[in-house]
Amino acid sequence: MAQKTRRPLVSSRTKLLSESVIREMTRMADKYGALNLAQGFPDFAAPANIKAAAVKAIEEDYNQYAVTWGSPNLRSAICEKAAWFNGIRAEPDKNVTVTCGSTEAMMASVIALAEPGDEVIMFEPAYENYRPSTILAGATPVPVPLGQGFEIEEEPLKKAFGAQTKLIVVNTPHNPSGRVTTEAEMRLVADLCQDYGAIAITDEIYEHILYGGRKHISLATVGDMADRTVTISGVSKTYTATGWRIGYTIAEATLTGAIRKVHDYMTVCAPAPLQEAAAFALRLPRSFYTDLQRSYQKKRDFIVKGLKGIGFEFYDPEGAYYVLADFQNLSRTSDKDFSVAMTKDCKVAVVPGSSFYSDGRKGRTQVRFSYSKKESTLRKAVSMMEAYFASRRP
Ligand code: PLP
Repeated sequence: MAQKTRRPLVSSRTKLLSESVIREMTRMADKYGALNLAQGFPDFAAPANIKAAAVKAIEEDYNQYAVTWGSPNLRSAICEKAAWFNGIRAEPDKNVTVTCGSTEAMMASVIALAEPGDEVIMFEPAYENYRPSTILAGATPVPVPLGQGFEIEEEPLKKAFGAQTKLIVVNTPHNPSGRVTTEAEMRLVADLCQDYGAIAITDEIYEHILYGGRKHISLATVGDMADRTVTISGVSKTYTATGWRIGYTIAEATLTGAIRKVHDYMTVCAPAPLQEAAAFALRLPRSFYTDLQRSYQKKRDFIVKGLKGIGFEFYDPEGAYYVLADFQNLSRTSDKDFSVAMTKDCKVAVVPGSSFYSDGRKGRTQVRFSYSKKESTLRKAVSMMEAYFASRRP
């Protein structure tokens, strides 16, 4: 008779992953009826013309599988936008892969380019999906701390690079700090990638959300990085369409070939009608982006003033739509307890700071606010926090 073997029910890889704290906070916000300043999605409508383009695409019957690496129309629109905005030269057939959000773009890129034994450098604090992508690829995450003002520092980065370094992930504008990487920092990364033969994956999903006249720099345009960079972006943040799940990679042809294989077997294609609508969105006139920046600048200025008035301390965001705030002036509890109390009692949900670090002892005096919300939501949130913290003052 066959011997029964005791085999684990689930793979050991999944044990290294934890559930997304950001989405857990969203569930908690829903449970307690709190305003959700935790997850980075807008509570305002997507632009009417973009929605109309999606409806039109469905009516015109773009309802079957798209070409696996992206509809020709969207890949052309991505190349046009990459040329005028990023300064990247790309060809639709050779260099572009359309994915299910930049989340899949990151996952497909890391799986396509890294393997067991390889190291993937990522800066911390970090958006939460770089580490899981690395673990699922069987590679090893190597966290490198950012400096006090969330800048890339030369010494720790040089120390992290080595013979096993395959990839480095760079995210600018940065979630959760809102910092924008400078050209000097980009040069440092570029030099080290050249020296060690490493490839950079850039997460540029907030490329159009910048404050105080700052300019976005794509790492692919720095030095000789064009052939050693996978540039990732998508429509979620710029076009208020996080639910569409349209992202993309731009990379040199061999890298793109590998990414396309992983993408094909992972998801086949991103939603076909929404790809056509995304092509329309990417071709909007430049004034769209000026208006977007103006609208986010107002939200940023309001939340920065409001949170400082309450007693939070933080680095003023230069881009993206987050504030990573220190709450020690207001409470001595842990970030997790503080976040739960904020959600349950103050009715404003936030994300505990430690969730942006692999070492859970870090970020314990911080919480992250997302301000991609209507001005009325932000006003309500600030006045609820003012009342809550005033009532707790001795
Ligand atoms: N990258 C960063 C830095 C993010 O903050 C987010 C979402 O919050 C994503 C990627 C996910 O983007 P997408 O909706 O394109 O998957």
